[in-house]
Amino acid sequence: MTAALEEARAALKTIFGYDDFRSGQEEVLSAVLAGENVLAVMPTGSGKSMCYQLPAVLQGGLTLVVSPLIALMRDQVQQLKAVGIAAETLNSTNDETEARAVFDQIRADELRLLFVSPERLVGSGGLAAMLARSGVTRLAIDEAHCVSQWGHDFRPEYRQLARIREMLDDVPVIALTATADATTRADIASALFPEQPKIVVQSFDRPNLDLRFEPKDQPRRQIEDVVIRHNGRAGIVYTASRNRAETLAEWLSGKGHRALAYHAGMDQGARSRNQDAFLLEDNIVMCATVAFGMGINKPDVRFVVHADMPGGIEAYYQEIGRAGRDGLPAETLTLYGLEDMALRRRQIDEKNGGEERQRVEHKRLSAMIDLCEASTCRRQALLAYFGETSGPCGRCDLCSGHARLEDATVIAQKILSAVVRTGERFGAGYLADILLGEATDAVVRNRHDGLKTFGAGKDRSRRAWMTTVRQLFAAGALEEASDEHGGFRLTDRGATILRGQEPIALRVQPERERRRLRSEKN
Ligand code: ADP
Ligand code: ZN
Repeated sequence: MTAALEEARAALKTIFGYDDFRSGQEEVLSAVLAGENVLAVMPTGSGKSMCYQLPAVLQGGLTLVVSPLIALMRDQVQQLKAVGIAAETLNSTNDETEARAVFDQIRADELRLLFVSPERLVGSGGLAAMLARSGVTRLAIDEAHCVSQWGHDFRPEYRQLARIREMLDDVPVIALTATADATTRADIASALFPEQPKIVVQSFDRPNLDLRFEPKDQPRRQIEDVVIRHNGRAGIVYTASRNRAETLAEWLSGKGHRALAYHAGMDQGARSRNQDAFLLEDNIVMCATVAFGMGINKPDVRFVVHADMPGGIEAYYQEIGRAGRDGLPAETLTLYGLEDMALRRRQIDEKNGGEERQRVEHKRLSAMIDLCEASTCRRQALLAYFGETSGPCGRCDLCSGHARLEDATVIAQKILSAVVRTGERFGAGYLADILLGEATDAVVRNRHDGLKTFGAGKDRSRRAWMTTVRQLFAAGALEEASDEHGGFRLTDRGATILRGQEPIALRVQPERERRRLRSEKN
C-alpha cells in the first residue's frame, strides 16, 4: 500500500470509525489521490462517497461535488459536519444570506466540500465563474449516468459539466455511478472527461441472491409457489401494469396471504399506508409497479418476483437488488413470455425518441431477452452485461438445471415454413394449430388444412411449439408483422435458417420442467 493510501486508511479509522476499505474503494482512492481522472462504477451502498470525501480531507482545498438529489446532499453535509468536516450545500433552496455565508467560507479557504445541484452550477448565477476565481481542487460528479441521453435519469445540465471542468482549469474529475452498462459508461467517459479516464468497476455480484427465470406457464401459481416457500416473509412482486398489481394483490389476499398493492395511480394516502406497512411489518407481499422501490431500504426482503419481464437488465438488476440487503439468502424469479417481449418491442417502436435512441433501447431489450433465454450461467451472463468476467456460479437455475442446447434447425424450419405458407400474419397459437394438424374453424376458413406443414408437428406438444416460437422470436428469426397484432413474419435470419444456410441451436427445457408438463398433460 502506498503512503498516501496508508494515510487514507488511518483517516478512515480516526474520522469515520471504519476499520478498513470496502472492496473497490482502495483502487478508486489510490487513483484519485494520485490526481487521476476516474470513473467509478460501484453498486449502491458500496461506499462511493468515501472516494471523494477522504481525498477532500487529506489533500485540502475545495472539492466540488455535483449531485442531483437535494435531500441526499443535505444528509451528507450533515454527516460530514457531525464528524468535523467543513461541508456546505448550494442549491435552489438556499436563500441569499445562506449563500453569502457559504461564499465567505470558500474565499477564506475554510470549506473542504461544496455540494451543488447541476442546475445551480451551470445556471446563469455566476457560481462557476466565482468558483473558478477562488479555485477548486477536484470535481466529483455523483450519479454520473445522468449525463447519458439514453438513460432514464438524463439531465441536460450534466452535458455542460465538461465546460465547467474546463472553466475550473481542468481539475481532476471523479465521476461515480451505480448503474452503467457499456453504452452508458462510454457516454460518461466521452461527455465528462478530456480523455479516457481510469475506469474502476466494482463487482455487481450479489452472491446471496438466487437467480431464477421461468417461462410464463401458470403465472399466478408460479408466483404463489414463491410466496408459500417464504411463508410469512416480506417480498415484492413487480408487474408491468398498475391493473395487474392490483388484481394480483387481491388474488393473493384471497388465497390467505398478506398482500398489498403499490403503483403511481393510487392516491398518495393509500400509497404511503401500504409502503409503511411493508416497512414496519415483516410478512407483506407488495404487488407493485416500478414506482415502488426508490429509497426503499428494507434489509430483510426475502424474494423479488418479476411477474412480467423487465424492459432491460439495469432495471432488472436494480429491482432484484432490493432483496437480501441483509446479506442472507434471498430468492429472485423472473417470469417471461412471448407477449412481454412483443409488448416491450412495440413500446420502443412507438416512442418517438429518434432512431438512435430506439436502436440503443432495442439493444438493451435484446440483452434482457438473451438473459431470459440464456443457456449458460445466469449470473455469468448478468455480470458480463456489466463488464465483469466470471465463471459459472454453480447455483443459478441454469447451473443447477443442466440446461442443454440442442440443434433445433429442423423444428425451427417447420415453424418458419408454417409462417411463410400462412402468409406471415399469424400468431403462435395459430401456428401451433397448423403444426399439430388441428382443423379449427379459422384454419378451415383460411384453407390452411391443406398446407404441407399442416400436421407436420404432431410429435411435439402445443407447449413445446409455443416455446420454440418464443425462442425463435427471441433469437431474432421472427419479428412481429407490422399490421397484424400478434402475428409474425420472417426476419433475414429466419429466411437464412429456413433455406438451410444457417443452423440454429435452442435450449432444451430442463428435465424437471418437462416432467411437470408431462404430468399435467396426463
Ligand atoms: P453509495 O454512494 O455507494 O450508495 P455511500 O457512500 O452512501 O454508498 O455509503 C454507504 C454507507 O457505507 C455509508 O453509511 C458509509 O458511511 C458506509 N461506508 C463507506 N465506506 C465504508 C467502509 N470502508 N467501511 C464501512 N462502512 C463504510
Ligand atoms: Zn449459474
